Amino acid sequence: MRYGLAMRYVGIALFLLFTSAVAAQEWTPETIRSDYQRLLEWRFTGKPITVPAGGLSWTRDTATWTLESGEIRLQEPTSTGAVTGLVFKGRGRFQMSVPDPVERRHLGRITGHPEMEAVDETFTQMVLRCSDELIAELVQPPAAEPYEPDETARKRHKQWLEKRMTDVDARVVTGILTPGDRYLRAEMKTDSFDWLTYEYDALQREEIQLRNFRLNRFTEIWVSLDRPEDRDANGRPSGERGNIIDVEHVDLKVDLTGRRRPITVGLSSTSMLDAHCEAVVRFTPLVVGARALPLELDPWAKVRSVRTESGEELVFLRDHLGGRTANLRKEVYDPSLVILLDRPLSAGETRTLTVDYDLFMSNFAMGRGWYPNLPDNFNDVHTAKLWIDLREKQEVRAIGTFQEETVADGIRTSVWTVDRPTKMVSFSFGSNFREKRLEIEGIPTVISFGPQVSKGFGGDMIGNVGADVVNSLKFFYWLFASELPVEQMQLTGIASGHGQAFEGFLHLSEYTYAGEQTGASEAFRAHETAHQWWGHEIGWESYRDQWLSESFAEYSAMMFVETTMKDGDKLFEEMLQMYTNLMTGSLKGALFSKFARPWLVGIELSDIERVGPIALGYRASTAEIPYGYTIQAYNKGPLVLHMLRRALNLFGQGDDLFVEILRDFVKNYQGKDASTADFIATVNKIAPGDWTWFFDQWIYGTDIPTYIWSYEMPRTANAQGQWVVTLNVKQENVSPGFMMPVPVAIDLGGGRIGTFVAQVDQPEKTFTIPLPAKPRSLDFNPGFAVLARVKKR
Ligand SMILES: [Zn+2]
Repeated sequence: MRYGLAMRYVGIALFLLFTSAVAAQEWTPETIRSDYQRLLEWRFTGKPITVPAGGLSWTRDTATWTLESGEIRLQEPTSTGAVTGLVFKGRGRFQMSVPDPVERRHLGRITGHPEMEAVDETFTQMVLRCSDELIAELVQPPAAEPYEPDETARKRHKQWLEKRMTDVDARVVTGILTPGDRYLRAEMKTDSFDWLTYEYDALQREEIQLRNFRLNRFTEIWVSLDRPEDRDANGRPSGERGNIIDVEHVDLKVDLTGRRRPITVGLSSTSMLDAHCEAVVRFTPLVVGARALPLELDPWAKVRSVRTESGEELVFLRDHLGGRTANLRKEVYDPSLVILLDRPLSAGETRTLTVDYDLFMSNFAMGRGWYPNLPDNFNDVHTAKLWIDLREKQEVRAIGTFQEETVADGIRTSVWTVDRPTKMVSFSFGSNFREKRLEIEGIPTVISFGPQVSKGFGGDMIGNVGADVVNSLKFFYWLFASELPVEQMQLTGIASGHGQAFEGFLHLSEYTYAGEQTGASEAFRAHETAHQWWGHEIGWESYRDQWLSESFAEYSAMMFVETTMKDGDKLFEEMLQMYTNLMTGSLKGALFSKFARPWLVGIELSDIERVGPIALGYRASTAEIPYGYTIQAYNKGPLVLHMLRRALNLFGQGDDLFVEILRDFVKNYQGKDASTADFIATVNKIAPGDWTWFFDQWIYGTDIPTYIWSYEMPRTANAQGQWVVTLNVKQENVSPGFMMPVPVAIDLGGGRIGTFVAQVDQPEKTFTIPLPAKPRSLDFNPGFAVLARVKKR
């Protein structure tokens, strides 16, 4: 109960009469649900409140709103009198300073105003929602009023639900029921940037975000900050999390014998089906006193019931988005699942809730979204047990250890346990799948389980795929000098175009079972295998550090191709060329190379300029380039690691320093979540000098230099017998201070190749290079040593 709000208006007789009758009764899940339904009608006072002379103003952390003049309408209160929304029309001003230098830089980049360090915007409309008493403190609610729909508010709320899949009413209700939550969402129609959203959400790792739903199709996150108490001295996020619970264990009973739909996917024409799932989630509370449990679940899941330990049904909130608009499939629900608890969460207790739901799926379960989970969940590990029912002629493989299988009445039941806490669990199944076991000394047993999708293809694809995983495991055992804590590695084919790695269990696209594309097939399989280290053994601290998983897995796979395959160096070079072309806007070969990602073709260079750096993780994406993160993590990240390796080659013997860094990083962070700063510290510990500048440029920055180079060959040797070459390099398209050591390979004839390192750190620089013999030719930036556009003048 929150008495504070009702007590504040004791002097207003009518209002008191209006609320007291309702507020007197205890809040129950039913009254909360009816409040939620009332909020969803988005009704506001018919008679507007005029903004008083001098305006209204409030501050949250570094943000200040000022309503200078205009009119306000208040949202219909909840049964306890809480006012959770207002609509404003008039003249307003929003100011927000950005204490984090990385975020300030991104704000300048994404707004297209590089000098912009803070937000200072006038606005003409605002829809505000909150779970605390902000509105009551700001304006005195009127006496009992008729409430009526407001067009501005209705449009905003509909857009949040139908286009952004965000149920703000469920979030506000969660906030009211959670001590210290203070949820706030203010969406303003600004003069420069159309609608801007400021949100404070204690459930998010970084609570404060400024967003722009650009082109009416994609949410760009312009600024993201930790709440003030979690920020470090530089305003940067600390990594503190805001989870309400800690999930310990999940029992998953999955029935795959259900109705198959006339919808098929993939090469194998796998039918979509209605699976029935029962997830029994055991957890301990982290926020004592919370009465609502906000979870996430696959939007394609239809929740039938949520039950307590004793079987009592709980009320839950989950909007049926697909029922609202023809733009969404009928089966689609809001991804949030808010469970209204029978009693507040209390310290030290363990609770177990059962969620019963139908899930629309093909022949695999993706990620962790398919069972109830915490938002932003990858740091929360848990154990699991799976019971999977399927038709007798089908077979299933799951993460963990196989326990037993029984067949009765044409139904096969397969039981698996996951005893080592893990980020997510999954399975995959199919008819006519074959399996091959590969037992090789020194590495986990590889079990390759896949579909026969290539009719008429003579090769043993199940064996080929398994052999690549065996070979890449052997290579990575050597490269990282690290062993995996699993006894077996299962690979399974899925009716999809992607791959995903679970611990000791890989999902591989069925396309990889359809035939071989020399280099590309091996790289794909090795990439998923490398995730056993990059992602699982060494986790990532926050989304900002996710390149430690994706880029490292990709570059490790590229090194596997380079080192172990016939003509590996050529295949490796082809991948580097392809990724460089993508990053520099060159489409040369993009359509024809087997390493091409066809969906990346056609990028405008001007659109690339708004894409964020690797260090912003998924936030690198923009409305114009929604796969911006993919480019940064899968293409640029591996090139950055390659640059680091090449730069370190200048100091050590071959790859010794680079390999030592990988091994040290794996050794120190195995079983932990690492950050970009942790990797930089490892490099600085092992490599000579301080490499922080390198990561500032390539991980935190987005500059890609253009080098225009030329050289003059001497006609004769000088008096000392030296041949002095003059090298001129122009550097463009970079911020002041950008620098890179660029190698120049010099062919001195007779098989002698010398390397000169040009320290390029100015717009134009001339180098004189004395040589012992007459050079034949110079090669600027050989071997993709620096990611750059290189032009010879
Ligand atoms: Zn990956």
